[in-house]
Amino acid sequence: MAKQRMLQFVTVERDMPEKRAAEVRNKDFDEIYQEYAAAKAEEQASRCSQCGVPYCQSHCPLHNNIPDWLRLTAEGRLQEAYEVSQATNTFPEICGRICPQDRLCEGNCVIEQSGHGTVTIGSVEKYITDTAWENGWVKPVVPARERAESVGIIGAGPGGLAAADALRRQGVQVTVYDRYDRAGGLLTYGIPGFKLEKPVVMQRIEQLEKGGVSFVLNCNVGEDITFAEIREKHDAVLIATGVYKSRDLGGPGAGAKGIVKALDYLTASNRASFGDVVPEIDSGELYAEGKNVVVIGGGDTAMDCVRTAIRQGAKSVKCLYRRDRANMPGSQREVQNAEEEGVKFEWLTAPKGFTGDAVEGVMVQRMRLGAPDASGRRSPEAIEGEDYIESADLVIKALGFEPEALPTLWGEEALEVTRWGTIKADFRTHETSLPGVYAVGDIVRGASLVVWAIADGREAAESILTHLNASASVAAE
Ligand code: FAD
Ligand code: SF4
Ligand code: SF4
Repeated sequence: MAKQRMLQFVTVERDMPEKRAAEVRNKDFDEIYQEYAAAKAEEQASRCSQCGVPYCQSHCPLHNNIPDWLRLTAEGRLQEAYEVSQATNTFPEICGRICPQDRLCEGNCVIEQSGHGTVTIGSVEKYITDTAWENGWVKPVVPARERAESVGIIGAGPGGLAAADALRRQGVQVTVYDRYDRAGGLLTYGIPGFKLEKPVVMQRIEQLEKGGVSFVLNCNVGEDITFAEIREKHDAVLIATGVYKSRDLGGPGAGAKGIVKALDYLTASNRASFGDVVPEIDSGELYAEGKNVVVIGGGDTAMDCVRTAIRQGAKSVKCLYRRDRANMPGSQREVQNAEEEGVKFEWLTAPKGFTGDAVEGVMVQRMRLGAPDASGRRSPEAIEGEDYIESADLVIKALGFEPEALPTLWGEEALEVTRWGTIKADFRTHETSLPGVYAVGDIVRGASLVVWAIADGREAAESILTHLNASASVAAE
């Protein structure tokens, strides 16, 4: 077949990979998008206009060299496209699946701004690396030389794993500690399979193990081992523990049975996808089958909960959010997917309380948008006298996450935190107030994105190497 020329956006329309029909996909936890066929990936990549100043690249947190790998894909040079793509991104196939591209690379593609649909950057990125895996181009790390120094990483989410990979490439000995029984952090136990199938994550972890990264799982730092012990064992330490304290709801009946936390609910469902025995699913405590489910919140976690409940066979699924559709934090793409799958959104509503000892209903207050608050967003305010009861036998709270109080939990008061409890780290080097201790990802940024955790992890690895090299040259003097 003739190789594609570029700048085809005028004649070739934007075309995402096929999405499985809602009535088929809402019965399983498989990803909803199919893979591009080779010809389709080449055609879609050829729509890129090869901008001299590519805004897609400057709005990608990893500054991926997008125009180059699009051109190589259009030319059918996939192995080279993969080499370029993996040079700046530790997990391109994961970002291709779950980055909110509409807010990052694709949202800034110039051909979208000129009235043609954006280049489907994320889908092509996924296609390139999925193809690389199929062809055996993704190889375990083999460092040119081994170094004696070791780094301890606390947290096996994307931030910790990206740093682990970058450090191993330089021959550093890396041990990753995690309190869960599987590595991957929210990639494994937060994000559902219909956005990111679990084998995609597990193959990366196996590859890191083959490359010499040691994992110490079921190890809660602060309980099973102290933070001081970890510092003692390693030449540098990276904290990548994410944010796990769920924001809560008050009001009458807030403690009723059947009101559960989003992450407990999603973790149980993800565990079941691995084939684990999950007593809370067997008992129905964290299972939606046959129930009227109400999810409270408007972020991506809420979207994942409503869509999980649909797949578990809920009788009805409603999402209550206190602002309107235009002002919700969750991705519009996910709202559309959820609506297609049967979720009903109740915009401008907030819970006031709950009825029943085992929850039977949510007391709902209707809201309107008032004047902008300090952040510039219009604040929701109650419309007096407009309230009703929404019947519910499972209520899922998805109101966001905050950091745990690490300095207290770890007995390390010298570890400085911000007024929000996130760890204070230098924005460039990622070093904390403790020498030789670095921090990345959500525990520094607050709840954020996978791609930012990867970017931080890669940058922190660079700083750690500089630190190790400086210590090595002092020792040699
Ligand atoms: P995490 O992924 O949270 O990993 C932290 C790890 O540290 C965990 O494995 C945890 O067990 C471990 N840990 C914590 N404390 C300790 C301790 N004391 N001892 C040992 N181990 C510890 N982002 C996107 O870009 N796209 C999405 O579609 C998306 N969907 C999301 C859906 C949900 C439901 C949630 C909750 C988040 C979603 N995010 C999404 C956000 C994204 O998952 C996070 O921003 C990202 O995972 C942060 O990475 P991290 O490495 O900082 O932390
Ligand atoms: Fe876009 Fe995310 Fe890929 Fe960057 S990493 S190019 S933001 S999908
Ligand atoms: Fe190609 Fe769009 Fe990036 Fe320009 S902004 S280089 S057209 S993907």
